[in-house]
Amino acid sequence: MIATKDKVVAVSYILLVDDGETGMRWYETVTEQDPFYFLYGHHNLLPVLEKALEGKSAGDSFSVFIDFENGYGDYDDSKRVIIPKANFKEEGKKNRDLLRVGNVIPMQDDKGNHLRGEVLKVDYMGVHLDFNSPLAGLDLQFDGKIVSIREALPVELEHGHAHGPDGHHHHH
Ligand code: ZN
Repeated sequence: MIATKDKVVAVSYILLVDDGETGMRWYETVTEQDPFYFLYGHHNLLPVLEKALEGKSAGDSFSVFIDFENGYGDYDDSKRVIIPKANFKEEGKKNRDLLRVGNVIPMQDDKGNHLRGEVLKVDYMGVHLDFNSPLAGLDLQFDGKIVSIREALPVELEHGHAHGPDGHHHHH
């Protein structure tokens, strides 16, 4: 079986990143024991990376360089915002943990798009959040291997994403 549309592909990889100043540095390791599952052809992956994996089989390796323009884009200062603390009140007593510096808070904009905001600091002005991807402004080097490929389940095709090793795990 090869990696192509509507297949669930599991990959392991090491991701190195380059901010253009300090050279390549390690960012993330995804092991063969706990690979990353994605549904091919459903915009679950950077297009350049997905394209590089097309037609590969389990056991094949890959090495893909993606500059930031084709990755997660440039760092955008306008994506740093300050939101009043009162907006987080409904979270109740979890509030203090939620607003810890470095925490990533899943949110939605007024169009229903999913966003992730990292807490930079909390002060009298409110909660300072950074909605840039942590990979914004970085060139990416993926070195990895195809761990497995299987048919997608109908529910996965319906959702447009993979549900882990056997298709039944569901984590969003
Ligand atoms: Zn789902």
